[in-house]
Amino acid sequence: MTIFEERESAVRSYCRTWPAVFDRAAGSWLYDENGRAYLDFFAGAGALNYGHNNPVLKGALLDYLAGDRIIHSLDMYTIAKREFLTAFDELILRPRRLDYRVQFPGPGGANAVEAALKLARKVTGRTGVITFTNAFHGMTLGALSVTGSAFHRRGAGVPLAHVTPMPFDPSVGSGGSLWFECLLDDSGSGLDKPAAVIVETVQGEGGINVARAEWLRGLADLCGRHDILLIVDDVQMGCGRTGPFFSFETAGITPDIVCLSKSIGGYGLPLALTLIRPDLDIWGPGEHNGTFRGVNPAFVTATAALRTYWQDNELERTTLAKGQRIATALSALAQSVPGTLIRPRGRGLAHGLAFENGELAGKVSSAAFERGLLVETCGPQGAVIKLLPPLTIAGTELDQGLALLADATQAIC
Ligand code: PLP
Repeated sequence: MTIFEERESAVRSYCRTWPAVFDRAAGSWLYDENGRAYLDFFAGAGALNYGHNNPVLKGALLDYLAGDRIIHSLDMYTIAKREFLTAFDELILRPRRLDYRVQFPGPGGANAVEAALKLARKVTGRTGVITFTNAFHGMTLGALSVTGSAFHRRGAGVPLAHVTPMPFDPSVGSGGSLWFECLLDDSGSGLDKPAAVIVETVQGEGGINVARAEWLRGLADLCGRHDILLIVDDVQMGCGRTGPFFSFETAGITPDIVCLSKSIGGYGLPLALTLIRPDLDIWGPGEHNGTFRGVNPAFVTATAALRTYWQDNELERTTLAKGQRIATALSALAQSVPGTLIRPRGRGLAHGLAFENGELAGKVSSAAFERGLLVETCGPQGAVIKLLPPLTIAGTELDQGLALLADATQAIC
């Protein structure tokens, strides 16, 4: 028995899917303790959009550490925070004509969601929140209450209240937001007017379910007409994962609140933001706090990532081109295994390959691992293989990973 099995909680999970002991990592590759290389189509569940140990980000971090600069500062003013806010304002918000106050709610995605839900309730004085089928927003109680998975919800141990699920776009064809609209407009529907709607434009954990731009526009419009706040959870699909910096840009909508985490720190260091429409920023000082809000090394790598990759639209362009390359390869793969229903889908560099059941997808993921490729499964039954390579992956590496995936799929199917 290893020390992991002996001492680490039974809750551990990725290590069960990929039972190697990892040691080093660079770019799109991880290496285990025996030096075996694995191509990473997982990218820290979306936290490593710029790859492992990205040299530019690492250089900035090493300089910062070598200078004995401040590491921990709660929400005190620091130079690292000033430089991050300046870069975010200059390179992300202003060019997109977006005006948000930035709240640092704690280091993880669930922290950003908790702050968003709490603020939406405080602003509106209402309690209800609308969420969507197969949504994933995190494991803390508030975030879990708007998460769909029955398995995860059961873990709460208390009722998860004040939330109403509605059908997410693709599961209901063109009628998705109309059903919500019917309930809102019908005084006999039993639906109290909610404080907010929380939505992912592409559901990551939920199975790479891509909402159509017109569905998102309809939803945003509905929220506007009914004075309901629209929260977009861009924790996994933000920071360029679908092409543009924010995943909602393509739909041309402007959410009231946006949640960001994972790749905003750039280097895999913990950082989260809750972006708030300025007039909604009615927090009292310290009303929502936390010890790890200003992780300065994460500000440093976040700033380096913004200054390196978001000065122009080159990363967006290459992400979309690589995404197209994946889409073509997955369609060919789906056709190459007759008799098995495999459905590809995705946007930018977030793609999914939906199998008939979770058992099949699990076997393909294991077969990929044996071949040196890391791909995880997602979706309510774990039936979708998720492809989330670093945005900086080279074309040759992308082709190599797709070939390994095709080989694994053909071996299993
Ligand atoms: N929101 C979305 C869309 C996510 O995909 C995740 C995590 O996968 C979270 C929130 C929760 O983030 P964290 O695990 O950092 O709390």
